Amino acid sequence: MVEASTSSIYGTEHEAFRETLRRFLERELTPNIEAWEREGLIARSFWRRAGELGLIAPGMPEEYGGPGGDFVHQLIVSEELGRCAAGASAGVALESGLPAFHILNFGTEEQKRLYLPKVCSGEIILTVAMTEPHCGSDLQAITTTAVRDGDDYIINGSKIYISGGINADLALVAAKTDARAGAKGISVFLVESAREGYVRGRNLHKMGMKAGDTAELFFKDLRMPASSLLGAPGAGFAVLMKELPKERLTIAARALGAAELAFSLTLAFVKERKAFGQRIFDFQNSQFVLAEMHTEIAYGRAFYDDCVARVLRGEKVIVAAHGNSLRALIMVLERLSPKEIVSREIATGVPLIYRLNADSTVAEKKDLAA
Ligand SMILES: Cc1cc2nc3c(=O)[nH]c(=O)nc-3n(C[C@H](O)[C@H](O)[C@H](O)COP(=O)(O)OP(=O)(O)OC[C@H]3O[C@@H](n4cnc5c(N)ncnc54)[C@H](O)[C@@H]3O)c2cc1C
Repeated sequence: MVEASTSSIYGTEHEAFRETLRRFLERELTPNIEAWEREGLIARSFWRRAGELGLIAPGMPEEYGGPGGDFVHQLIVSEELGRCAAGASAGVALESGLPAFHILNFGTEEQKRLYLPKVCSGEIILTVAMTEPHCGSDLQAITTTAVRDGDDYIINGSKIYISGGINADLALVAAKTDARAGAKGISVFLVESAREGYVRGRNLHKMGMKAGDTAELFFKDLRMPASSLLGAPGAGFAVLMKELPKERLTIAARALGAAELAFSLTLAFVKERKAFGQRIFDFQNSQFVLAEMHTEIAYGRAFYDDCVARVLRGEKVIVAAHGNSLRALIMVLERLSPKEIVSREIATGVPLIYRLNADSTVAEKKDLAA
């Protein structure tokens, strides 16, 4: 097993936090996840319990209701999600605190005090609504509009693939306030889902991560006061991009956790399973393959640690760690599931994480380790 604790980025307080988190996941996630996967939704009580332990936005300062940890605590949440069955599904809950940092960075004092403590406690479920049916990567191309009307803005448009869109109470909605200004014409609004004109669409069927709801949202003449703008009008692109390197690192953290889990399950399996009168582990080829996997994961972790250290020092990192850690995961899973087609999408990591975390159920994993 490649142990996270060998890494230099964690202090003793981080390891204590990891233990609390592991116990929480064993107690609150593992027994429930199969039912939630079937239902396509995680129970709201999961957020509340996570909030009680300071797991939703662990890096949030105490003055805004958080536990006052740091970004490494957030990474530990993602790593541990990678290490447990259907952890990627549960990311919709335990990583839902990430957008709260947009509010911390750009919110008015009133907005911060109004929303952040409730996001941290799990009372308010937060999401980000950027993607639209015709555009995702190209955020500039959104067509949701927010048109000024006196002291208000009227929002019209639709969003798709919104994580937590069914459960969310509060959405950071990207909308065009100036259609001619390109990226500088995008603004972000803090929109409560209880508002008239905010309509939830379908909870979309996915190949994995089924408990993590991914939904459509529609805005029909949704009237929002100008005070609901997050940051200045036209600053939406900057608001959403500021935390991107950190968000990318959480994906790397989850991939790395999943790769480490896959490796440890494989090791346990090959040490138990016998063929042709000996343990699979004892075949020389198995040891070559395992050594290669271990090396890939270890160098993925070393590179990841370096990227984390740089981000913590405030350096701008082009997060190649994302790709690098995923490479370790891809390699391990390719070997675990040779029949799977390794498509271009797999290079993005998402379907792999689906497969490991969601489609490999708790029961299947037990079989593998047994
Ligand atoms: C499970 C899940 C949860 C999500 N949650 C959210 C959420 O909470 N909020 C939200 O706003 N969105 C969410 N999304 C949407 C996600 O952010 C988009 O899927 C993503 O931005 C890509 O957009 P797209 O799917 O429209 O693909 P497109 O942008 O249409 O891209 C299609 C393909 O073209 C490629 N491509 C695009 N641009 C380039 C380029 N310049 N050069 C080369 N290739 C390119 C892409 O890599 C992709 O393979 C979620 C998606 C999923 C699957």
